[in-house]
Amino acid sequence: MAYNISTMHIWRFFNGECECPMCKLKKKTECDIAESYLSEAVMEDAEREKVNKYGFCRDHYDLLYSGKNKLGLALQASTRLWKLDMKIKPVDVKQAVKTAKKLREEISDCIICRKIEFNMGRYFETVARLYGDDARFREQFKSVKGFCYPDYIRLVENAPKAKSYAKEFLQVLYEKQKSSAEEVQKNLKDFTMAFDYRSSSLPPKSASLSLVQARVKFYGEKPSLPERK
Ligand SMILES: [Zn+2]
Ligand SMILES: [Zn+2]
Repeated sequence: MAYNISTMHIWRFFNGECECPMCKLKKKTECDIAESYLSEAVMEDAEREKVNKYGFCRDHYDLLYSGKNKLGLALQASTRLWKLDMKIKPVDVKQAVKTAKKLREEISDCIICRKIEFNMGRYFETVARLYGDDARFREQFKSVKGFCYPDYIRLVENAPKAKSYAKEFLQVLYEKQKSSAEEVQKNLKDFTMAFDYRSSSLPPKSASLSLVQARVKFYGEKPSLPERK
């Protein structure tokens, strides 16, 4: 159940319709990977072994719990719990402190986070490469509003991959980041103004969305599985 990155999704999300196209790519990747852990394929031995080894982080456990396969999740949770439980043994004080440290590392891991990170690393690189190689993509890039800060930083880090267009890529990123932050700033201001007792008119709709917009700007989008009927 390998997940292959596709430039098709890059073309699809790089437009002016969202706060951050990299977040849309991450959400799609995250959804596809999470859904694979709710499908039959996850019962394959190799995948079960990975879940036992790395487990799921809190956010991804919650994401899987919001899905439709509670039995599949229960089976995976059971073997993971068994694996962790095996590591807890009565030992002397020195050894216990050592084991606690190892255990903390172990419970901080996540198979879904690992797979997302692997795929997103390739997406960031591919975006920069596309910018360097494809004039049509450079044109389409103009319509993008901006990025969340975590994704802006990673795009900047990948700028050298745009080769001869690296400088232009950085400049475009910079301009988009500035103008989109300005827009969020304006909406936040409109929102706070609405609390002023001297203000008589209702704030525009964009103002009421300002805190959600700021949330995306700071941290990126929250993961969610698509609604299924
Ligand atoms: Zn983002
Ligand atoms: Zn995770």
